[in-house]
Amino acid sequence: MRLVIMGPPGAGKGTQAGLIAEHYNIPAISTGDIFRAMKTADTPLADQLRAIMDSGGYVNDELTNAIVATRLSEADCENGFLMDGYPRTVAQVGALDKELASNGRQLDGVISLVADVEEIVARLLKRAQIEGRSDDNEDTIRVRLQVYAEQTAPLLEIYRARGILVEVDGIGPIDEVSERVFDALDKLKSNSAA
Ligand code: ADP
Repeated sequence: MRLVIMGPPGAGKGTQAGLIAEHYNIPAISTGDIFRAMKTADTPLADQLRAIMDSGGYVNDELTNAIVATRLSEADCENGFLMDGYPRTVAQVGALDKELASNGRQLDGVISLVADVEEIVARLLKRAQIEGRSDDNEDTIRVRLQVYAEQTAPLLEIYRARGILVEVDGIGPIDEVSERVFDALDKLKSNSAA
C-alpha cells in the first residue's frame, strides 16, 4: 500500500497515521516530524525552518521534495508507506508522482480526514497545553488553517479525479475513526481490483 493521509492541522492525522501504518505494516513518514527534528540543530537551515514553522507557513517545495525523495529511497519503503503531511502543494503532488514513477510505482490511495474548523481549533489549543508545540497558539493555528485551505485543500480534487480519494469523518473516538479508514481503504482496493 502506498498511501497519503491529508486533513487540516488538528484533524488527528498524526494519530491515525500511526495506527494505519501499523495495520498495514508500512512506515509512516511525517514531514512535520522530520522538520521538527531538523529545526533543533544549530545551523542556518535550522534557523530558517524555525522561522517558517513558527509563523505557520510552508517550507519551500524544493527542500521538502528532496527530503521526501531521500526518505522514500530507503529500504523500508519498498513495500509501501504512508505519507503524513506530504504532499501539501500542487508542485509537491507532481514531484511525488515523478519520484514514484521513476521506480515504476504510483499511489494507491489518499485518505482525507474531514473535521469541522471550530472543533479543530479547540483540539489544537488542547494539544498546545499538553505538548507545548511552539506553532500551536491561536494566531498560528488560524494561519495554518488558512494556508491549508488555500494551498492544500485543492489537492483533494486532484486525487478525487484520479479515483483514489477516500474521505473519512475524523470526528469521534480514535479507534472508530481508524475502523472507518480501514473500511474505506478495503472498499477502494476491491473497487480497483474489479
Ligand atoms: P500540522 O499538524 O499543522 O498539519 P505538521 O506536523 O504536518 O503539522 O507540520 C508542521 C509544519 O511543518 C507545517 O506547518 C510546515 O511549516 C512544515 N511542513 C510539514 N510538511 C510540509 C510540507 N509537505 N511542505 C511544506 N511544509 C511542511
